Formats: sequence, structure tokens, C-alpha cells
Amino acid sequence: MFEYIDKSRVLSHVCLSSYCSFGVGGHAKFLLNLHNDEVVQVLHEIKGKLDYFVLGKGCNVLIADSGFDGVVIRLIDDKIVVHDNTICVDSGASLNAVLNIASTNGLSGLEWAAGLPSSFGGAIVGNAGARGFCIGDVLNSCQVVYKNDIIDMEKGDCGFGYRTSVFKQCGYIVLNCTLNLTTSCIDTVKANIKHINSLRNNPKGRSAGSIFKNTTDYTAGQLIDSVGLKGTTIGGARISNQHANFIINYGNATSNDIYQLIVLAQNKVREKYGILLDLEIVLIGF
Ligand SMILES: Cc1cc2nc3c(=O)[nH]c(=O)nc-3n(C[C@H](O)[C@H](O)[C@H](O)COP(=O)(O)OP(=O)(O)OC[C@H]3O[C@@H](n4cnc5c(N)ncnc54)[C@H](O)[C@@H]3O)c2cc1C
Repeated sequence: MFEYIDKSRVLSHVCLSSYCSFGVGGHAKFLLNLHNDEVVQVLHEIKGKLDYFVLGKGCNVLIADSGFDGVVIRLIDDKIVVHDNTICVDSGASLNAVLNIASTNGLSGLEWAAGLPSSFGGAIVGNAGARGFCIGDVLNSCQVVYKNDIIDMEKGDCGFGYRTSVFKQCGYIVLNCTLNLTTSCIDTVKANIKHINSLRNNPKGRSAGSIFKNTTDYTAGQLIDSVGLKGTTIGGARISNQHANFIINYGNATSNDIYQLIVLAQNKVREKYGILLDLEIVLIGF
């Protein structure tokens, strides 16, 4: 299989724990490090034979201990090109690399993303955001793979919502994007990034950021805290004492330890408030 791909980029029986921020998860049958122009051929080859998913930096996923009996695709193209106030970005670029290039070109609109760990594709798919802003705000258009075809999509087609998009709902693969930023002063943009970085106070340890989405009236952290679960530990995983919507792999947690804490939080909050906490992270292989 995959004979048209350089052998060094076709890995089999790969342990996925080192590819995600939680540091947990079993093996994948294959892991392919692909250039954008190889994706369609791969999808064509595996159609009806193997499942697949795309992995960015793995900062918003929980991969099962049993792993994934299919193909994990990682996009390695990471070109970032600036034209006036527009930036074209490949999905494999890191969000912070794009932010750095924006700042050195005096382009404003992404400062809120300072310190947010993400590939660019992962940020678009989950409509990553912070401090009331999100990546969909600055997207102009993108190129995606849908049903084995490459298509161009405008911002209005992307179905952006709170930590979601049509790509997340319908399984599109995002290859690259064009952003529209605002021309500003380099020093101002850099000062804003420094300020946002100083406000970031994520709990220490291996996590995937916020586990659940906030509800309209309360944050997920408030609800979990109010049912007394802060600091609750199962195996090597703990609901953070600092931020109840974070679960930390503080030792040798298994994916199942983390999953049990997720279910516990959902059950306790539903029993007390009748609210079902909706996952922000993506479960893989469960
Ligand atoms: C310490 C910490 C702090 C965080 N803070 C924030 C925050 O402030 N705001 C926030 O929004 N998030 C936050 N997160 C969560 C995470 O950083 C974001 O969700 C990020 O955008 C995930 O990007 P990723 O590349 O790691 O995606 P992954 O975790 O690899 O993937 C997430 C989902 O996107 C899919 N995907 C990834 N790339 C593609 C692609 N090119 N095409 C199609 N599907 C794709 C995957 O299949 C998966 O379903 C935080 C995480 C951590 C660990």
C-alpha cells in the first residue's frame, strides 16, 4: 500500500501517545505524513478498506487505549505566505507560527491566539478561539477535500459556530486557508501578543485544554466545580484543582482513566442540574 509515498513518511503500528497533548492512546495501523497533493490519492486507495482521521497537533483529542485500526493522516505542508493584509496558510503550519508572521508584518486580528497550541487546520476545524474571538472571524476562504474532491469554500459556507464548523460536523479535510487581517503597527501587535500571553494561565501538566463546551448560562468549569469534582482522581488522571474543565494526565494515566473522569463529570452535572455537558474534545477510537 501507499507505494507512491516516500517510505520514510509511511509508518505502521505507531503508538499515538506521543502525537497528542494528553500523552495517552494506543497504536494506529498506519500513520502517514502527507503533502496536501497526496491526500486524495490516499483516500481513493483506502476507500471501503480502512477508516481514517486527520490529526493536527493532537491538542484537542482523546485517543482510546485500543488505538485506531486505520490510517492517521498528518498534513506536513506548512507554508505561510503574506500578500498585503492577506495570509495564505497550509493546514500543517502551527497557529503560533502564523501569529508570529502576522506580527512581524504588522497584521492584526490573531493576537487572541497567543499561546494556543494548534495546527492551523485543527484551529479551523474546531473554530478555536479565546477571549471572545475565534479563527472563523478572520478566515476568508479555504481549500478542502470533500468526498475525494478538492473544493474551494468561502467563509459563509464554513458553518462556524462555538468550537465547531461544517468541517468538524461533516468530516471535510482542510488543506489550506486564506485569512484577511487588518494592517496595524508592528509594535502594537507585538505588545498585544505579550499582553495576551501574560493572561494565559493554563493548568500545568498534560491536557487537551477544555474538555467540555460552556453552556449558555454557566461555564463547564463552574458546573463541574459546583458538584465537588475539582481534584478528583482516577488512576493517573485528575480533574484540575485550578480549572475544573481541564483533566490532567499527572502520571501514567490511561485514556480510560481520562474517559472515566469525563463520564463522572457528565453524570454528576446531569444529576444535579439536568444539563448534559457537551464535549469540546474529539474522542477517537471509542
Ligand atoms: C494547554 C491547552 C490550552 C488550550 N487552550 C485553548 C483555547 O484557549 N481555545 C481553544 O479553542 N482551544 C484550546 N485548546 C484546545 C486545542 O489547542 C485547540 O482545539 C486546537 O485548535 C486543536 O488543534 P490541533 O491541531 O491540535 O487539532 P487536533 O487535536 O489534532 O484535532 C482536533 C480535531 O480536528 C481534526 N483535524 C485536525 N486537523 C484537521 C484538518 N486539517 N482537516 C480536517 N480535520 C482536522 C481532527 O481530526 C480532530 O477531530 C487548548 C489545548 C491545550 C492543550
